[in-house]
Amino acid sequence: MIKKRILILGAGLAGLSAAWHLQRRNLDCQVFEKEKEVGGLCRSKKIGGFTFDCDGHILHFKQPYAFHLIKDVLGNNLVEHERSAWIYSCNRYSRYPFQANLYGMPLSIIKECLLGFIIASEDGHPEEKKNLNFSNWINYTFGNGIARHFMVPYNKKFWTISPYELTCEWLDGFIPVPSLSELVDGTIEESKRQFGYSAHFWYPQNSGISCVPLALGSSIKNIHTDCSIVEIDIHKKEIKMASGNREKFDFVISTIPLPEMAYLIKGIPGEILSALKKLRWNSIFNLNLGIEKKDYSVRHWIYFPQKDLSFFRIGFFNNFSNYLAPQDKSSLYIEVSYSKNKRIDKNNLLLRIKEDLIKVGILTPKDTICAQDINDIKYGYPIYDKNYGWAREMILKYLHSYNIIPCGRYGSWRYFSMEDTIINGKEVTMHL
Ligand SMILES: Cc1cc2nc3c(=O)[nH]c(=O)nc-3n(C[C@H](O)[C@H](O)[C@H](O)COP(=O)(O)OP(=O)(O)OC[C@H]3O[C@@H](n4cnc5c(N)ncnc54)[C@H](O)[C@@H]3O)c2cc1C
Repeated sequence: MIKKRILILGAGLAGLSAAWHLQRRNLDCQVFEKEKEVGGLCRSKKIGGFTFDCDGHILHFKQPYAFHLIKDVLGNNLVEHERSAWIYSCNRYSRYPFQANLYGMPLSIIKECLLGFIIASEDGHPEEKKNLNFSNWINYTFGNGIARHFMVPYNKKFWTISPYELTCEWLDGFIPVPSLSELVDGTIEESKRQFGYSAHFWYPQNSGISCVPLALGSSIKNIHTDCSIVEIDIHKKEIKMASGNREKFDFVISTIPLPEMAYLIKGIPGEILSALKKLRWNSIFNLNLGIEKKDYSVRHWIYFPQKDLSFFRIGFFNNFSNYLAPQDKSSLYIEVSYSKNKRIDKNNLLLRIKEDLIKVGILTPKDTICAQDINDIKYGYPIYDKNYGWAREMILKYLHSYNIIPCGRYGSWRYFSMEDTIINGKEVTMHL
C-alpha cells in the first residue's frame, strides 16, 4: 500500500483529534502548530496561583463517543456539574433562560412577555419557522415581549449585528423553547427546572481545560510546535513554514481559520477570494481576573443583555473547580464581543469593565484584583448571515478539489463546541 503524506495544520482540538484518530489506525501524519504549545483556544495559563482558561470553556456532550473518548484520556479528572446560569436584567438577577423564568420581573414586563408568548404559541407553524431570519424566529417563537426584553438586545450585543441579518442555520437546539405551562410555572415562582443542552456540564477536577488537548496530544507523534505555516502551494502540493522549510503533501487537514486561506494560498481564483471576503465573524475580548475575596455564590455564569454594560457574559472559574483559584480567593472571566460592525475602545475597556462589575454588584470599590489575564480572540463565532451558506460551500469545494480538508470550528467555519470539534476531527480522517 502506498503511504499517503498527511499534514495537519494546527494543534487545537480539531488537529489533535484528527491526528489521534489517524495514528490509532497506524496512519502517519505530521502536525504543525504556530504556537509554542498545543491546545488552541483550549489552553490554560497559571498566573499568581490562579489557573485561567482562554475564556470560559466547559464540556457538554450529546454523543456518547466524545464523552467516552474524553473520559478515557482524562480518567478521573472530570466532574459533572448542574448548571447555575443567570441573567441580569432590570437591575436584578433571575435564572436562565429568560424565556422560562419571568419570576421577579416588573409586572408590566411579565404581562408583555406572557401575552406575547401566548399569541406566538397560537400562531405556531413550526414548518414555516425553518427558513425565517433569526429575528423573525425569535418573534414567532417567543412573542414580542421576550424578544424586546431579552432575545433581541442580548443577541445583538453578542453577535454584534442585528438578528435580522442572521439565519437560523446555527440554532440546532442552542436556544431552549419552554412550553406555555413551563413559562407560567417560572413566572409564579422561582423555578429550578433546567432547560437546554448545557443543563449539565463537565469540567476537570484538578486542572484547567488545557488538560484535554494535553492529554490527547501526549500520545500523538510528530507534533511540531512553534511552526507557523505561511503558504500552501496547491500546485506543487507543498506547505511552507515561517522557517522557510517546505513539506510535500498528498492531503492537508487544515484547522487554520478559513478567512486566512486568502493569504496562504497563492493565486487563489477571484471568485474564491470574493467568497472568502463574504465570511463574517465576531471577536471576543476576554478578561480574566483573580480577586482577593471568595465568591460564595454557586453561580457558574451570568448573561448581560443591557446595552450600557460592556460585557455580555461573566463566569466564575472557581465555581467550576476549587483548583482554579487559591483558597479564599475567586476568579472570573469576562467576555466582550466586537467586530467591524461594533468597535470597542480597547484602551479604556479594562477600566470600563471594572466600573461595570461594580455597577452590577459583582465587585465593590474595595475589592482587590490580584491577578489579570487578557485574551483577545480574533475569530470568536462565525456569523451565519445570508452569504454564509453559499460562500462556505464554494470555498470548501475548492479546497477539497486540491486535497485540502477543512476541519474544526474555524477551519470548517462552523459554530462548533469542543465536542463537535473532536467529532469533526475524527470524521475528516475516515476517508483517508
Ligand atoms: C469565547 C469562546 C468560548 C468558548 N467556550 C466553549 C465552551 O464553553 N464549551 C465548548 O464546548 N466550546 C467552547 N468554545 C468552542 C471551542 O473553543 C472550539 O470548538 C474549539 O476549541 C475549536 O478547536 P479548533 O482546533 O477547531 O480551533 P483552535 O482551537 O483555534 O485551533 C486552531 C489551531 O491552529 C493554529 N494555527 C492557526 N494558524 C496557524 C498557522 N498559520 N500555522 C500553524 N498553526 C496555526 C492555532 O494556533 C491553533 O492552535 C468556545 C469558543 C470561544 C471562541
